[in-house]
Amino acid sequence: MQRVVRFEELDEFDLETDICVVGFGGAGASSAWEARMAGSEVTVLEQSSAGGGSTMMSACEMYLGGEGGTALQQELGFADSTENFTNYLKACFGDNLDEERVAMYTQGGPEHFAWCEALGVAYKRGYFPGRDVVAMTGDSLQFTGNERSWPFTEVAEPVPRGHLPADADHRGGQVFMSTLLQRVEELGTDIRVDARARQLVQDKHGRVRGVIAKIDNKPFAIRTRQAVILTAGGFVMNEQMTRQHLPRYYPIDNPHGNPGDRGDGILMGVAAGGHAINMGEAFICIAHYPPPELTFGIFVNSQGQRFINEDIYLARLGHYASEQQDKKVYMLIDNEHFARPAYQEHIEITAVGETIEEIETDAGFPPGALQATVQYYNEHAACGEDPLFHKAKDWLKPIASPPYALVSYSLDHLKPAIFTLGGLDVKPTGEVLTPDREVIPGLFAAGRTVAGIPRTAKGYASGMSVGDATFFGRRAGRQAAALDRS
Ligand SMILES: Cc1cc2nc3c(=O)[nH]c(=O)nc-3n(C[C@H](O)[C@H](O)[C@H](O)COP(=O)(O)OP(=O)(O)OC[C@H]3O[C@@H](n4cnc5c(N)ncnc54)[C@H](O)[C@@H]3O)c2cc1C
Repeated sequence: MQRVVRFEELDEFDLETDICVVGFGGAGASSAWEARMAGSEVTVLEQSSAGGGSTMMSACEMYLGGEGGTALQQELGFADSTENFTNYLKACFGDNLDEERVAMYTQGGPEHFAWCEALGVAYKRGYFPGRDVVAMTGDSLQFTGNERSWPFTEVAEPVPRGHLPADADHRGGQVFMSTLLQRVEELGTDIRVDARARQLVQDKHGRVRGVIAKIDNKPFAIRTRQAVILTAGGFVMNEQMTRQHLPRYYPIDNPHGNPGDRGDGILMGVAAGGHAINMGEAFICIAHYPPPELTFGIFVNSQGQRFINEDIYLARLGHYASEQQDKKVYMLIDNEHFARPAYQEHIEITAVGETIEEIETDAGFPPGALQATVQYYNEHAACGEDPLFHKAKDWLKPIASPPYALVSYSLDHLKPAIFTLGGLDVKPTGEVLTPDREVIPGLFAAGRTVAGIPRTAKGYASGMSVGDATFFGRRAGRQAAALDRS
């Protein structure tokens, strides 16, 4: 079904336009906006009955900064140099990082935030200093990732970069996307819902010249004079693809996305000669906070040993938890700090005891292992030190007020939220690349259909996906609109 259709074999088309955007979520709407502003005729195809996609479901936190800081960062007293932001992203994604893309992103953050505000989305001049995934105070600026934790503190000054629509809590996506979709519509864009793109139309020279969609259960052929932009989200809802590419997280019981995340854009792009990269990486989340007090606990594996500093972001914990033996991890916490995590329903209490020895025996850990871990941790925590993993001083306190609880965050029963971080290899301009990194003429992509800024759970921070999708969606729209028409 995903093979391309030869342009030369088609006698007629149902519609002709300059640019066809596949998917009306964050990346698609942003690219349509830019392409219309540049004067191109744009048709958008959206498979569901309304636009929005996963971006509409999200808190619409955007991870932005650099170039001295966005207006929000600056007005709240935070300077953010491009170098500092780049160093941070390099520490996040290491070998997986796309340097050219990062350079564009770390230089363009302030302009992108200005664009968001110019659309009419309100951002409150308030900074939330606490530890939560999304500030529930109405404030628009917060830390969202690993900025304040080791080893990131070794290479970059901690700067808050999470930008949230004002007073929206977890509903920022509704606020942002309803505004953006309306703006795109106001520009006279041809928007077709209940319209699923199925195949690309490609000519004998390899140039993409249109799309075959299914509308009202009938094939609908669109000829494009400039380009097709694939912005159809990721593939977390596609069982065959997740089984193939993400065996370490399979089965995925809690896919984080919308039903359209079936990988259509990636499959269509590959069929036209594109190259899918980073396909084995995904965002996996163990929401071990809020409440923030839980950070005073320690995580151990089934050998009773620590493996991470507990003040990290929840996707970094998800990554390292998935690497422990049998994917089994536990939080040891004392009575003073015990709480149920706000966003993680499926935790199980493995053992409760008046002594660490009791807990260790009940959990079936090797004798003495957990006791040694706690003794070592407590000795150093009392002096404000964590020689093994460098948890920040603010979260260091001896685990010393009984009773103690050992809470299982093991992946087998936790049902962690997962979405995919692999997709088409594209230039920062959105041009889709072959395995030899040659541009496929007339084909662009953005958002979770591509391998973008966020490339591992290990370095992910809230806001990196919507920030990337909207930022590079805009670039794809602009670049496509600059092409000659033919
Ligand atoms: C609950 C939740 C909260 C989140 N919070 C955040 C957050 O605060 N910050 C952050 O950075 N990330 C967050 N994420 C992740 C983020 O929302 C997504 O990764 C991002 O929005 C994806 O944007 P996109 O434009 O690529 O895809 P989408 O916004 O999902 O848009 C893709 C669109 O394509 C359509 N489509 C698919 N196939 C076809 C086809 N064949 N033909 C036509 N249309 C098609 C879909 O229906 C959809 O409308 C969250 C995710 C969830 C689920």
